[in-house]
Amino acid sequence: MSRAELRELAELAGAELEGAHPVDVLRWAGETFGDRFAITSSMGDAVLTSLAAEAIPGVQVVFLDTGYHFPQTLATRDRVATELAVEVVTVKPQLTVAQQNVKYGQSLYSRDPDLCCAMRKVEPLNRVLRGYDAWASGIRRDESVSRANTPVVGWDVRREMVKVNPLATWTQDDVDAYAAERGVIINPLVELGFASIGCAPCTQRVVPGEEARAGRWAGSEKTECGLHV
Ligand code: SF4
Repeated sequence: MSRAELRELAELAGAELEGAHPVDVLRWAGETFGDRFAITSSMGDAVLTSLAAEAIPGVQVVFLDTGYHFPQTLATRDRVATELAVEVVTVKPQLTVAQQNVKYGQSLYSRDPDLCCAMRKVEPLNRVLRGYDAWASGIRRDESVSRANTPVVGWDVRREMVKVNPLATWTQDDVDAYAAERGVIINPLVELGFASIGCAPCTQRVVPGEEARAGRWAGSEKTECGLHV
C-alpha cells in the first residue's frame, strides 16, 4: 500500500472503530497489516500486551530500553516475554548511558531532557518502526490533557505510518477492571504509587487526584517524551 492509501485507511478505520473493543481494534490491525504491525509497551503494565496476545498471538512488542529503567520495569519486560504469547523486541539507543555521559556530561536528563529523550527514546523507536506500516501504543484520552484527542486509529504524520491506540477510549477504571479480571502482569511500582512509569530519573509517585502522568518530569514543563506527537 502507498503512504496515501495507508493514510486514507487510517482515517476511515478511525471513524469505524471508535467505540470498538480494544481486542477488535487489534484484530483489525493484525488482519490488515500482518507482520507489518507491532505494538509498543513501556512495561508499566501488560494490559495492551495481553489484549494483543489474545487478538494476534505472536505479535511483536517493542520495548525501548533507555538504560535508565527501574529494575522492576526490566523484570516486568522479562515476565511478559516468558508468560505471554508475544515476541518482545528490545531496542536500545545508539549510545550507552556511559557513552552519553562522556559526550554530553552527566545527568543530561536534568539539563536537557528533550535531547535525552530524543536520543534514548525517539531515535530508537523511529529506527525500529521503519520495518512496519502500523504501530500501536497504550495511550489513553483520560491520561492527560495532551492526550484528550487521541484517535483509536490515526495517521502518524512524522513517521508516515498508521498509529493505532486501542485503549484510547478506555478509562483507568476500565484498565483496572480488565487487569483484575484477567490477572494481568503489572509493574510492582504501581502498587507503590507510580501511576505512569518511565525512566527512573524522570518518574515520581503521584498523589491521589493528580493526573496519572503528573509524576513524569515533575517540576518541569515537559509532559511528553516525543514518541506520540
Ligand atoms: S525520560 Fe528522562 S532519562 Fe528517560 S530518555 Fe527521557 S530525559 Fe532521558
